[in-house]
Amino acid sequence: MLGCGQKEAPPGSEELPRKDIILISIDTLRADHLSCYGYDLSTSPNIDRLAADGSLYEYVVSSSAYTSASMASVMTGAYPRFNSLGYSNTSAKLLDHEVTLAEQLNSAGYNTAAFVCNPVLKKKKGFHQGFELYDLELEDEEAIRGFPERTAAKCTTSVLQWLGDSDPKRPLFLWVHYQDPHGPYTPPSEFADRFTRDEKGPLLDPPIQDDNFGFKRIPSYQAIDDNRHLQSYVSRYDSEIAFVDHHIGRLLDWFRENGRYEDATILLTSDHGEAFGENDFFFVHGQTVTKDQSFVPLLLKQPGQPGGRRHETPVAHIDIYPTLCAAAGLAPTCEGKDLGTLTNRNESPERINEDSLTDRSLYCDIGGGLAIHRDGFLLIGTLKSQTDKDILSLQPSDFKPRSMGSYLDQESTKKVSKKTQRRLMKSMQEYLSRPPARFASYRITKKERAQLEALGYSE
Ligand SMILES: [Zn+2]
Repeated sequence: MLGCGQKEAPPGSEELPRKDIILISIDTLRADHLSCYGYDLSTSPNIDRLAADGSLYEYVVSSSAYTSASMASVMTGAYPRFNSLGYSNTSAKLLDHEVTLAEQLNSAGYNTAAFVCNPVLKKKKGFHQGFELYDLELEDEEAIRGFPERTAAKCTTSVLQWLGDSDPKRPLFLWVHYQDPHGPYTPPSEFADRFTRDEKGPLLDPPIQDDNFGFKRIPSYQAIDDNRHLQSYVSRYDSEIAFVDHHIGRLLDWFRENGRYEDATILLTSDHGEAFGENDFFFVHGQTVTKDQSFVPLLLKQPGQPGGRRHETPVAHIDIYPTLCAAAGLAPTCEGKDLGTLTNRNESPERINEDSLTDRSLYCDIGGGLAIHRDGFLLIGTLKSQTDKDILSLQPSDFKPRSMGSYLDQESTKKVSKKTQRRLMKSMQEYLSRPPARFASYRITKKERAQLEALGYSE
């Protein structure tokens, strides 16, 4: 089974109480920069509080390193190769035949609303399918490029206004996609000086470049005042996390103050990470499937579950669809797993290993690059066609410590046993042998093309 789509309700599900379901996605957020994931700065007190109330997944694989492809995978439960939007961040779109998460929940009676702050998640791409309200009011402008966006402060305010007017008798499916901490890293002044350690650290060798590719250079859209201090950029990035965390706190407080927090299912994740010099990429994402760009956070709070659990078993974006469907009493047939079946088990709230999830491969797929996570190993390959492959590295993989690994580390492959190599290669072959979806696209305007080219995207 390649993706999700069938609507199946388990027997008796119509009697299940309908409780609010909230999906929070944060653009460009590396898991390892959140305090609850072990970061040594207090960037995320509100997100940490959510983790304490629910389950934290240590090892989470994003489906892509691009916003559109990752979020399309979240919304369809299918890897990028197997849904109509595919890998592209440009003019690709989800076709009507996809049964999105919002459509599943709307059909089940949920009042569905989305507040998104990244212009690539536009209606033309089909992300609005199933939402009664799709709010993409981008009233702010990104620094340097001037792209439309909306800050976390204004986004949360819009959500709170809508919540105040919403019908309290209808359960909600609310999706909020925050744009901070996507670059350029320009936190508002009240957060800007929060993490200024090591500002006088070493200068980056890379000069600032004219485009946005970010390989051995600082992308032009990220360059702030010709600054070449790596730590300065990272500090600003951390401050943006603190900013979005603060406004996520405002959002979750509304549910607490209105007596709807305890019974709500809340899932928080990000679409992809960001390179901070790993493999010579600086302040970009989308170019590789290495851990810096594909490791994301995933927190899940469910009604009645013990809090503070940490799960070591690898999980992935494709698990979000079945997990949130299950919270509504739906059981679609799909490749991902319902994580709630784990978190609801009445066991002690310590680290839990989940045997049922270990016998599978998880993928991050950007079309030209594919990562396979399986059995404690990470295989990274480049793909010249649907079936051709060039293995770049195969290495042991762990979330702790966050050794990010090298992209072109073919030496590491030689150290892995032949048996493991065969197993991982078989997994790659199995994935590549599946028939891909027919990808769809829309006609883009001149203005959109200019924006995409400024972003470094071209087709
Ligand atoms: Zn993104």
